[in-house]
Amino acid sequence: MKYKFVCLNCKKSIKPNPHISTCPQPRCKGAFEIVYTNINTESPQEILIPLLNISNLTNLGQGNTPVIRLNTLSNDLGIKNIYAKLEYMNPTGSFKDRGSAMMISALNEFGINEIVEDSSGNAGASISAYSAYLKMKSHIFVPEDAPKNKVSQIQLYGSIVHKIPGSRDNSAIAAIKYSKENSIPYSSHNLSPYFIEGTKFFGHEVINHFNDKQPDHILFPVGNGSLLIGSYKAYEERKKINPDIKIPKHHAIQTESIPPIIEIISNNNWAPKQAKQTLANGIAILNPPRKYQSADVIKKTNGQGIKVSDQSILDWQKELAKKDGIFAEITSAAIFSGLEKLIKQESILPGDDVLLPITGFGLKDPPRDLFN
Ligand SMILES: [Zn+2]
Repeated sequence: MKYKFVCLNCKKSIKPNPHISTCPQPRCKGAFEIVYTNINTESPQEILIPLLNISNLTNLGQGNTPVIRLNTLSNDLGIKNIYAKLEYMNPTGSFKDRGSAMMISALNEFGINEIVEDSSGNAGASISAYSAYLKMKSHIFVPEDAPKNKVSQIQLYGSIVHKIPGSRDNSAIAAIKYSKENSIPYSSHNLSPYFIEGTKFFGHEVINHFNDKQPDHILFPVGNGSLLIGSYKAYEERKKINPDIKIPKHHAIQTESIPPIIEIISNNNWAPKQAKQTLANGIAILNPPRKYQSADVIKKTNGQGIKVSDQSILDWQKELAKKDGIFAEITSAAIFSGLEKLIKQESILPGDDVLLPITGFGLKDPPRDLFN
């Protein structure tokens, strides 16, 4: 498919270029999204992808994750159907594989053989696996205090790990500097528009699975919002083919400690310096480059932003495992705290169908008391 990069901020477009990660307009620096330019309006394609050929999409077995009904939870919470889509069954244990597969495949089509990325965990591991498969050299910049399991996973795939002292932001700054000094593309999963084109497959699978009875609600743990945005993009694409398709309310769950996107929806000012510690490190993103795009999706689908506490997330992680046999990563368990709140405030009603993506597997970042 032919496409261009469009800046989310100033709306100017440029020719796709894997060496440019943010808008080059003076003082803009907006993130890009991919807009397709040769859509056949007579017979539109179901899934639009930014590759010359679909066969170039690297396959480590990502996608087509199962959907199951959480029987005990549906019963206990008095909701008609609570479903989980088991995104932790992706090859590296998290939904990020959908984005990495597309991003690394697109970079490979451009002939790129070395990349720089910063991550505190799941995205780094995922990008490392896909780079390994395509023999692409990858440098992953991680905060010194990133979860050990996740850093070990990144190293296992053969990536070069650069440990950077200080906050998560320091890793990003160091990665950008290294990329410039060595002329290696900065391929940040938070910025790359290709990453979102990969997470779109989540939405397409949900649409196909539920067919003419789409869920009323989908709840996302939101850091940078790539799964939330990808899901909504899939519904938008399919609406062009089937205008009757119902788009579920997309709800965003963040922690009380770091809620930048929820505060945008609520028209509150929030600055990264107000951040506090949280155990949900996968959504601890202080200044997500796609924060306004994420907030837009929530507003357009009549969803809500819900803040939850670490204690409630830990409680739900255990409940979920005991009740329905799901061992979710702490970050992923946040959506169950959000579910409880949405039911309490009657935004989710007893007759509704709810879908919860379990974005990462529990052993990625195990509870501290697990082995005691
Ligand atoms: Zn711009």
